[in-house]
Amino acid sequence: MQYKRILLKLSGEALMGKRQYGIDPDRLAEYAEEIKQVLDKGVEVAIVIGGGNIFRGVAGASRGMDRVQGDHMGMLATVINGLALQSALEEAGIQTRLQSAVKINEVAEPFIRRRAIRHLEKGRVVIFGGGTGNPYFTTDSAAVLRAIEIHADVILKGTRVDGIYTSDPEKDSKAVKFDFISFEDVLQKGLKVMDTTAFTLSQENELPIIVFDMNKQGNLLKVVEGENIGTTVNL
Ligand code: UDP
Repeated sequence: MQYKRILLKLSGEALMGKRQYGIDPDRLAEYAEEIKQVLDKGVEVAIVIGGGNIFRGVAGASRGMDRVQGDHMGMLATVINGLALQSALEEAGIQTRLQSAVKINEVAEPFIRRRAIRHLEKGRVVIFGGGTGNPYFTTDSAAVLRAIEIHADVILKGTRVDGIYTSDPEKDSKAVKFDFISFEDVLQKGLKVMDTTAFTLSQENELPIIVFDMNKQGNLLKVVEGENIGTTVNL
């Protein structure tokens, strides 16, 4: 295995599957199977889950809602997704713990770094909900932050496209995919991998990011085995 401890970032939208909103149980079950494959190889798996399938703070703010209020709703949305993912993983026979950055003790453990690491060492999947616990941040920032804190080897950003392109491949047929790209080049070319806060935090801490298509069976395992099927962002 190329990586021993991974931080998998899944967007909330990924959980929608073919739906327009909410959570698709079939998609969750598929993800659970993908995650099981890498766990069975002895890889430690932490997950940060987004909330965009339920609520985004900026969307609320654009309709007159107080931004902080909206962000609180967004953070709670990530906890809902975390619970759904936890349930799907448990159904697949995987031991999990959900840790939340916002205190919601009856529902999830509080985020405690050492405890999270201990869970990982015991082979449990740790899902980090509640983002960073602060408004004005994203779950991409939470993913980078948690990855650094738990000393993950890499961030795997599972998306519906198979990597980073010169332009949006869903809009531009001439778009070309990068196999590897440096942090510097991403910034210079103005490519969108994560929001700037998340991206520069990763750069400063020399934490590589791999963007790959999470919706193809077996892809997660391939990435963890070191096969370059997506785009790797490194120094
Ligand atoms: N959010 C926040 N602080 C964080 C992480 C998330 O306030 O540290 C809120 C924010 O409103 C965001 C929402 O939670 O829009 C959902 O997260 P995100 O948009 O990152 O989810 P994704 O796009 O990955 O589904």
